[in-house]
Amino acid sequence: MGDFDGSVAVITGGARGIGAEIARKMAADGAHVVCADVLDTTEIVTEIEAAGGSAEGRPMDVTDAAAAADAIKAIHSDHGHLDILVNNAGITRDQLLVRMKPEDWDLVLRINLDGAFKVTQPTAKIMMRQKSGRIVNIASVVGLMGNAGQTNYSASKAGLIGFTKSLARELGPRNVTVNAVAPGYIQTAMTDALTDDQRAALMKTVAIPRLGTPGDVADAVTFLAGPKASYITGVVINVSGGLYI
Ligand code: NDP
Repeated sequence: MGDFDGSVAVITGGARGIGAEIARKMAADGAHVVCADVLDTTEIVTEIEAAGGSAEGRPMDVTDAAAAADAIKAIHSDHGHLDILVNNAGITRDQLLVRMKPEDWDLVLRINLDGAFKVTQPTAKIMMRQKSGRIVNIASVVGLMGNAGQTNYSASKAGLIGFTKSLARELGPRNVTVNAVAPGYIQTAMTDALTDDQRAALMKTVAIPRLGTPGDVADAVTFLAGPKASYITGVVINVSGGLYI
């Protein structure tokens, strides 16, 4: 018996990185996972199925409200219920504010923040009718502490945290919880590119001197989406090794 037996979970940006790891863990615990991404999801779906799990891919661009709503409705009608949404799709376009191109400001806000609104709205309607559901938004510690060179990204993640807290108040009476996970430095393609010196400097800022793993983030997400978190809503779990305390 897994924590997610019989559940349907939609994970945006689920083709790779943190989203793919969340999909692996939820599928291993019994969920049918829907990896919704602009990227091809064949690899992660094949991997989960080969491990005995249940998964499907859905092409989804979270910036397209109509297409996102159609995809959410189709998933619901195919399975008869929709239990978990993880708003994980996100990008960075880092630059100091004075040099930032307006299009890079817009794109980051459009994907990271507006995208969560566009996918969550049709999902929330379904979960309210069901009188059950779990929504987990992937924010970032920079949305709490700020970071030079990331005004666009920090604003999008701080916005996502405000969205989480307000929506938790709206949906609580319908037995739908809404929480956020705020990762710090996570081992991904991005951090693979750091030099040894950069890595050493980074580690001086973290209480637990290692990079986090996608698995560290996925563990917090599965906890919030699982049965042990039914009385937790509107919180932000910081998975940063103490980068932000
Ligand atoms: P990845 O880039 O590895 O994965 C994100 C996925 O989202 C990619 O497949 C990406 O596709 C997809 N995506 C991008 N735009 C859209 C869109 N419009 N619609 C649907 N899918 C889209 O990122 P990570 O796994 O590293 O990050 C996942 C989340 O965690 C993000 O929200 C990020 O901000 C957050 N986070 C990550 C940290 C880290 O250190 N990695 C730290 C803190 C937070 P494509 O490749 O085409 O862009």
